[in-house]
Amino acid sequence: MQIIVTLASALTLTMAAAASHAPHWSYEGPEGPEHWGALSPEFAACRTGHTQSPIDHGSFEPKHAVAIATDYHAGPLTLLHNGHTVQANFAPGSTLTSGGHSYPLAQVHFHTPSEEAFNGKHYPMVAHFVHKDAEGHLAVLGIMFVEGAENPELAKLIEHAPKTSAPAQDVAGVTFNPAALLPPDLHVYRYTGSLTTPPCSEGVTWHVALKPVAASKAQIEAIHAIVGHNARPVQPLNGRQLAAD
Ligand SMILES: [Zn+2]
Repeated sequence: MQIIVTLASALTLTMAAAASHAPHWSYEGPEGPEHWGALSPEFAACRTGHTQSPIDHGSFEPKHAVAIATDYHAGPLTLLHNGHTVQANFAPGSTLTSGGHSYPLAQVHFHTPSEEAFNGKHYPMVAHFVHKDAEGHLAVLGIMFVEGAENPELAKLIEHAPKTSAPAQDVAGVTFNPAALLPPDLHVYRYTGSLTTPPCSEGVTWHVALKPVAASKAQIEAIHAIVGHNARPVQPLNGRQLAAD
């Protein structure tokens, strides 16, 4: 009887460990981007995928035209830190329309420096607005940041952002407007890519804004202090074509 109990306990522990253990990954060392695809079978696309992100957008002439539009609205501020970035979750009601398809806005998160490159150059920071439609299709809008004037909307996020891993929490009494983080004249490159973090899932429709917005040096440093260096290196284009609006 004792043996059966022990085996059952061991099995329960093993199953619990398997269920709760998302493979660990990072941005440097043995769990860094070059090794993501080998860390877990779930991460295979990081190594074997042919339409991965990010890419260098600088040396490509867009081949097609596409119309995009955002309809973002202010709402409550909900923040989390997932161990890799700080993220604001959004209430339903904001959308990105791309090529006639509408994607509800789910969240925005940050990378320092920008993952996107332009002729080998990176911006000091990028915000990724992640949208997901009812079928689970993902569309991301990347907004680059340059050093300049303080960004009042970003200030709200920095003031309340968790500095280390923390589950989503509402920030009482603060309204956040994602539209305030967009350039006034939004033009993008669009291409088909992937998540830039494991599991590197493909089929993500990427939109990368051509014009940056400003944040102060202190604000960019504040985000960097929270998220660290969290940019995946650029990936081969493999014949993909860019569209632009
Ligand atoms: Zn991202």
